Amino acid sequence: MPTFKVAVLEGDGIGPEVVSSALKVLKRLEALSGFSLVFEKALIGGCAIDQKGTPLPQETLELCLRSDAVLLGAVGGPKWDDLPTDKRPERGLLGIRKALDLYANLRPAKVYEPLISSSPLKEEVARGTDFIVVRELTGDVYYGEPRGIFVQEGKRVGINTMKYTEEEIRRVVRKAFEIALQRRKKLTSVDKSNVLEVSSLWKAVVEEEARNYPEVELEHLYVDNCAMQIVRRPSSFDVIVTGNIFGDILSDEAAVITGSLGMLPSASLGDRYALYEPVHGSAPDIAGKGIANPIATILSAGMMLRYSFGLPKEANAVEKAVERVLHRGYRTPDIYSDGCIKVGTDGMTEAIISALEEVWADLS
Ligand code: NAD
Repeated sequence: MPTFKVAVLEGDGIGPEVVSSALKVLKRLEALSGFSLVFEKALIGGCAIDQKGTPLPQETLELCLRSDAVLLGAVGGPKWDDLPTDKRPERGLLGIRKALDLYANLRPAKVYEPLISSSPLKEEVARGTDFIVVRELTGDVYYGEPRGIFVQEGKRVGINTMKYTEEEIRRVVRKAFEIALQRRKKLTSVDKSNVLEVSSLWKAVVEEEARNYPEVELEHLYVDNCAMQIVRRPSSFDVIVTGNIFGDILSDEAAVITGSLGMLPSASLGDRYALYEPVHGSAPDIAGKGIANPIATILSAGMMLRYSFGLPKEANAVEKAVERVLHRGYRTPDIYSDGCIKVGTDGMTEAIISALEEVWADLS
């Protein structure tokens, strides 16, 4: 079986706690399945500022560049809040995404039946929701030139430029089609082609690429309509692909319908590198208390098995183990409700590992 090298960047706050849980799950699965993982740790964020004077030390970057995937906890905290923007822990994250040329951000939005009451949507609407937003990360209005605040005829004018090249669109759209092929084979492309030329190009490129994926059912939605349909019929989506700014907004909308931040994994993919991290931050309010929910990071590790290592059976086992534990009523405090079994980070991790053993036996 193959050996994969994982750069482990725990970061700050609850980062080390939730990453430690994910590593325990991966190690157990390694023993069950027979693949081999080599973990190497490095500093990022506030802890890197404290020890190395920079949020992204050169050795961290070099480790990531010679690894098959990066697993990251979270960065930041009040200790570093007063630093200038370009010296803050979050700069480490931006730096690493850029250096690894990660252009597709994947955010799954899944409503788990045992947690359905935490969704702000009616249960009958939320039930069965299980989709992924694929957001382009490197282009769009966030990076287009010209940009700035200028003075024209004595008045200030703010300018940003929405821009995409054909290749930037094509590579993320291909990723989205490939992901749809591994799922329920439905892709929704989101744009604003009724008013934006950038979006007309986006839509044309999606249509061209669709010819290479005849098995995938394709729909186009305008972004305003998509924002409505996500709350009206979330269970009808499988994979949504869109540009940077629309994806920024829609992925947060999608996140909120699932009910809990501690449950949300993410992946950022490029052609050569990939980074996996929970959606949540470093949660300084609960750091060190042993109560952080490790599920988002464990599911991020599951995504790593699927998208970086091509191990779908192992990835499914992780997801099923999480579901089984939720069905049995195990809850960290952030997702606790009356009648459930309250556990801390370690208790949740142990429950997931023993469920993983059962699931693996069922699958084998
Ligand atoms: P946060 O996600 O850290 O926390 C928001 C709330 O959710 C807090 O009450 C926290 O206790 C809770 N929470 C988050 N994750 C949890 C988990 N796994 N289990 C249980 N509860 C959880 O967001 P914030 O408070 O706005 O930011 C805190 C710090 O994290 C800031 O310094 C911010 O810049 C940083 N941050 C980092 C990232 C990242 O590393 N990707 C993302 C967002 C925020």
